[in-house]
Amino acid sequence: MNQLRLSPSRVNDFTNCPLLYKYRVIDQLPESPSIDAERGTLVHTILHDLFESPPQSRTIQTALDLLPSRWQAQLELKPELANLITSEKEWYDRAKSLLETYFRLENPTTFEPTYRELHLEQNLSADTYLHGYVDRLDVAPTGEVRIIDYKTGKSPKPGWEEKALFQLRVYALLYWKEHNVIPKLLQLIYLGDSNVLKNTPLESDLIATEKSLLKIAESILESMETNNWKPRKSRLCDWCSFKSICPAHN
Ligand code: SF4
Repeated sequence: MNQLRLSPSRVNDFTNCPLLYKYRVIDQLPESPSIDAERGTLVHTILHDLFESPPQSRTIQTALDLLPSRWQAQLELKPELANLITSEKEWYDRAKSLLETYFRLENPTTFEPTYRELHLEQNLSADTYLHGYVDRLDVAPTGEVRIIDYKTGKSPKPGWEEKALFQLRVYALLYWKEHNVIPKLLQLIYLGDSNVLKNTPLESDLIATEKSLLKIAESILESMETNNWKPRKSRLCDWCSFKSICPAHN
């Protein structure tokens, strides 16, 4: 049997709804593009490319100047996106507002990122491979590491912070396993409502994250073996591409 490939997104899919995981990962059913996800991709690309410029040029104007060319490149890759946009002005205005929020939360002229879109990977066990792409990872001259992820949505409601931090704890675990250094700071930058969620991971948090990943991997492997994928209805069903074929809704 092939190794199970896990990433924070795939783990989320399975924990949100095992049937969604099956449709997306096992059956690889096509999904129509989501306007929010595509806006997220565009803003992430601009925040990535902004750091190609020297520090003093990393201004809001530089970011806004990147908007048309990066959007054109995205459209060339996926021409069907043109049908999603009913008003180009509205589309640009929303992306502009997210970028302006970024500049209110961080000043990119004051630091040099060490890595952008860093790929981290490890074999979690003999049958499970774990990987992920970190938006940005900064190593301070003193050796302290911070992991940053940009979110174009809103920050979690009180009580949901731990779930939101899971993704960054997975990256911290991967980094720790590879470099034997526990990142000092995890930072989720929410451009949707101008909030930053910060956390200092402890060794015990990362050990707990690893245990939880192993447990989830075991459940996925069991579902594969038994071909048993239970639907789990939730608010997320309203955004699920597979609602029309899902037995929980039909
Ligand atoms: S519609 Fe809901 S229950 Fe059905 S697959 Fe999607 S997320 Fe799962």
